[in-house]
Amino acid sequence: MPELPEVQTLVDDLKALGTIGQRIEAVKVLWPSLLAGTGPDEFCRHLRGQVIKGIRRRGKYIVWTMGKNCYLVVHLRMSGHFFFAGTGKPRARHVHILFQLADGRWLAYQDTRKFGRFYLVSDPGIVVGKLGPEPLDKRLTASRLGRMLAKRHRRIKPLLLDQTFIAGLGNIYTDEALWEASIHPLTLACNLAADDVPRLLRAIRKVLRQGIRNRGTSLGKGLNNFSNLERRAGGNAGGLKVYRRSGRPCPRCGTLIERMVVAQRSTHVCPACQQEPDPLSKC
Ligand SMILES: [Zn+2]
Repeated sequence: MPELPEVQTLVDDLKALGTIGQRIEAVKVLWPSLLAGTGPDEFCRHLRGQVIKGIRRRGKYIVWTMGKNCYLVVHLRMSGHFFFAGTGKPRARHVHILFQLADGRWLAYQDTRKFGRFYLVSDPGIVVGKLGPEPLDKRLTASRLGRMLAKRHRRIKPLLLDQTFIAGLGNIYTDEALWEASIHPLTLACNLAADDVPRLLRAIRKVLRQGIRNRGTSLGKGLNNFSNLERRAGGNAGGLKVYRRSGRPCPRCGTLIERMVVAQRSTHVCPACQQEPDPLSKC
């Protein structure tokens, strides 16, 4: 599933490849159930002729600013991504929504699982208003994160995956950040020590920045996996320390990485670096 670095890579590409300022000449919806709350005719009629004024990321969402009171908010869910299909009639499998820009290029939305969602709204807050803070935002200080964690009686991994607590983390970068910070995923948030919190925040930022620098994580070559606007895989898989590395040595201490299941999610830990909490611990 695309997480913050993968969505950021797409947003950076959309900007770098000259999408902003382009008028949308045509819209084709081949799979209407990707649209949330709008029928395909209304969706196409509203977007045709709009100029793309801005594109930004919020959590794992892409927010497109169009005309006045018109925003397109997209969540890629399991396997969604955009790519430029050139100026010819696009022919590619699993392409479900197409936008033709004023310069003739077709921007294609491809999604093998078809779980992605397109929201056409008058205010992006309708979709992204309940998200927690951005982990790379300087306003999220260690003391603010510490106050947020102290109130929560949940295990740290599912809490970090909760988009209303902090926005943008998914399974890969959560496992990587917890390993980086030497915190076990089952630790109760309210039991984290004072010095755990700044270390955790630094670790989250380190793994996200590495993911952005490497232009996302692609775990394989199939269409289910992340690829950027030019249909190239991200380069971050080789930089992962624990995710999907069970049975291989921890890069820090050499102990073999183990896989466990936390809140129904596959989870990867170093049993030496990340000490399991006492199962009876409370706070
Ligand atoms: Zn280790």
